[in-house]
Amino acid sequence: MPGGKQSKGKCAYCGQEIAKNAVAKHLTACAQRQEIITKTEGKQSETKTLYHLRIQAAGSNQFWLDLEMCGSATLKDLDSYLRAIWLECCGHLSRFSAGGWQGKEISKSRRADEIFEPGVELTHIYDFGTSSFTLIKMIGERKGKPTTSHPIALMARNLMPEYECIECKQPAGWLCMECLTEEDIWGVLCDEHAKMHPHDNYGEPVRLVNSPRLGLCGYAGPAEPPY
Ligand SMILES: [Zn+2]
Ligand SMILES: [Zn+2]
Ligand SMILES: [Zn+2]
Ligand SMILES: [Zn+2]
Repeated sequence: MPGGKQSKGKCAYCGQEIAKNAVAKHLTACAQRQEIITKTEGKQSETKTLYHLRIQAAGSNQFWLDLEMCGSATLKDLDSYLRAIWLECCGHLSRFSAGGWQGKEISKSRRADEIFEPGVELTHIYDFGTSSFTLIKMIGERKGKPTTSHPIALMARNLMPEYECIECKQPAGWLCMECLTEEDIWGVLCDEHAKMHPHDNYGEPVRLVNSPRLGLCGYAGPAEPPY
């Protein structure tokens, strides 16, 4: 898979494009986000500890999410979120662990405020066959009122990586699973070459979506946030 240059993402509050390494700084300064926080602080709800988590696909710098997780939310909530936005193909098992993927399992019933403290990094594994590994790092926390009634808020997300068609270098929108599985080629194709592509043992090329699980098992997206 292509890589190299600094990955860019988008702020979920103001829509601005931001380099991955500037996201935390942007979120602190973002006027739209600060406005929402100020409004929520005026409400009658309970003050909680809110954790800023950087979610990162292991082995690919291009796929990442910045989430704000409520202290009373559980790892089950986080697992559901990751499945919805990135991972779910056929209901595989998953687990969280601390100290690497071979580390001690952490129960999904645990709350964020029982687990996260500065420097804590968890590994999430989805599917013990064709596994997707996700790293979860706490990079900040604040005391305040949650800006959403959901357990998790999406604050920023990587932009869809751009790929060039292997035939003509035009922007690609499709991936051939036969190229990938049989020939170990990241066989991405433009619309036109997807139509003309000779491989059909694994069905038609699948649409590229913004997920690190693309190309694994039967994953086909949609890679949209659940809320
Ligand atoms: Zn912003
Ligand atoms: Zn599957
Ligand atoms: Zn092409
Ligand atoms: Zn192919």
